[in-house]
Amino acid sequence: MRLSQMLFVTLRDDPADAEIPSHKLLLRAGYIRRIGSGIYAYLPLMWRVLQKVSQIVREEMNATGAQETLLPQMQPAELWKESGRWDTYTKAEGIMFALTDRREQQVALGPTHEEVITYIARDMIRSYRQLPQHLYQIQTKFRDEIRPRFGLMRGREFIMKDGYSFHVDEESLKKTYQDMDKAYSNMFTRFGLAFRAVQADSGAIGGSGSQEFMVLAEAGEDEVLYTEDGQYAANVEKAVSLPADAVSSTFTTYEKRETPGTDTIEKLSQFLKCSPTQIVKNVLYQAVYDNGTIVLVLVSIRGDQEVNEVKLQNELVKLVDNYKAKTVIKLTVPDGEAQEKWTAKTLPLGYIAPDIADDYIASQPQSKIEGGSVHPKFLRLVDKTAAELKNFVTGANESGYHSIGANWGEQFKLPDTTVDVRKSRPGDRAIHNLEQTLQTARGIEVGHIFQLGTEYSQPMGATYTNEQGEEKLLFMGCYGLGVSRLAQAAVEQSYDKDGIIWPVAIAPYHAIVTIPNIKDAQQVEIAEKLYTELNQAGIETLLDDRNERAGVKFKDADLIGIPYRIVTGRAIANGKVEVVQRLTRNSQEIGIEEVVSTLKGWIEEAKG
Ligand code: ATP
Ligand code: MG
Repeated sequence: MRLSQMLFVTLRDDPADAEIPSHKLLLRAGYIRRIGSGIYAYLPLMWRVLQKVSQIVREEMNATGAQETLLPQMQPAELWKESGRWDTYTKAEGIMFALTDRREQQVALGPTHEEVITYIARDMIRSYRQLPQHLYQIQTKFRDEIRPRFGLMRGREFIMKDGYSFHVDEESLKKTYQDMDKAYSNMFTRFGLAFRAVQADSGAIGGSGSQEFMVLAEAGEDEVLYTEDGQYAANVEKAVSLPADAVSSTFTTYEKRETPGTDTIEKLSQFLKCSPTQIVKNVLYQAVYDNGTIVLVLVSIRGDQEVNEVKLQNELVKLVDNYKAKTVIKLTVPDGEAQEKWTAKTLPLGYIAPDIADDYIASQPQSKIEGGSVHPKFLRLVDKTAAELKNFVTGANESGYHSIGANWGEQFKLPDTTVDVRKSRPGDRAIHNLEQTLQTARGIEVGHIFQLGTEYSQPMGATYTNEQGEEKLLFMGCYGLGVSRLAQAAVEQSYDKDGIIWPVAIAPYHAIVTIPNIKDAQQVEIAEKLYTELNQAGIETLLDDRNERAGVKFKDADLIGIPYRIVTGRAIANGKVEVVQRLTRNSQEIGIEEVVSTLKGWIEEAKG
């Protein structure tokens, strides 16, 4: 491609609405243009990158025996009602775009395809002889994200590879899951990215687990906790560990004590000159179940620890039956305004005890969701860290007062449900080896592989007949990879002050031939010859034949991040050209006849 003929526009300044380097660079270098919130055009350079990523994905998927397919993006509501996800995906903060067609039928734009594929499996898979099966597609997904941001990182329209496998049993599912783990590792190695596979939260599904693939980068939205021995890595949402030991309490007799102005753990521990590890802190949450029931949740946890809301949400989902619901659609810390909707009297915030009376909840208030109401009793949960404490300090249900030297089973009844909802953090001891402490890193989640089991086959009735002629539920796995997010994550991991530095395997072009002065016939002639020969040799090459100053061309080449720049400048007098490697900035003069073979060697080597 000749730059003189390409729709090629670079920006000198950072666009105002871009916050992270990769977003700024992709906009500045003319890879993407914003069309609306979370909606981007992939311009020709970007599309080439996306195609390269897709091709690597495709090759590694096909190598495992998975079959490429293409499923419809328009999905009838019935399928989502069968799986039970229609409401959670469309109501409240649901992220599915839903519309009504001319026949008054509800349709959605696919945010994911479990329902569609399970429908197909139900329809087409009859016998164990047809199993296992694994279908995948590379396609645009639609999600009405609450906070679209960072360009392609969190779009409302984005490209995903999603694969779904079906099996006779868990063992067969595990095998494919392991094959995917390997395939993903191969892909990331081929992309040329630093990555880490980490244990991930599987949400309400729980069970046999899931793994995320993180591209390591400072701007990542996710925190990864890992140990240096390489034995453990998990998303902070999922991570488990041992906290520091609690300091044993010096308050050996129980009393209620006046503690003015101590509504935070910090102020309280200073006032009482005690360690936060001797305090039981009681944190109030408000959970909204899908049937509209609002449940006020009181979590008692050790004062120096924080609640992991993902773990808490999972615990709340386990209790759905108590509230005749199917799932939890929202979990928040209720602010003053939210409290006003259900409190009968003012809460002693900062001084709440584990036994705060249920009559703080007004009788029979209606939830805003139709038919819903507020559950009249607090749901009391105690985290393991707090359940273990003796002679602890906690609130006295009265502003300005705390209980000192309290014990479970004496002054306070231990809540029925003991849970692990504590947030692991760097410095905690690892469970597999207490000598190892957790380290932290930031990552961008680009892939997520999942053992779903019968989560969809059960509600949708997708079965097969086994060797004994019995009808059995299909076991299912799903394997996602954010193609467009990955392309931007690659930039986030690899850039410098002058622009993008693409890994060779996914660069839009391998090389760019730059003519410093297009009025110089000899420069043009050699550049044209190299441009033709390189492309003929399979080295994807751009020709910068624009009528611009050399400095402008060099700047643009750096900005768009093409791995190798070939300059037909002064050296041509000696039968040579200058070749500059974008990554190292190494520059060397190479004989014109050797350019093709030299680059071929480098590119092969870089691709590994
Ligand atoms: P996140 O927690 O970041 O919202 P998710 O758990 O919703 O991700 P999945 O449903 O597992 O993601 O989707 C599979 C992959 O699709 C993710 O690993 C990610 O790479 C990509 N992805 C998800 N949402 C978006 C989005 N809004 N924009 C771009 N890529 C996305
Ligand atoms: Mg999401």
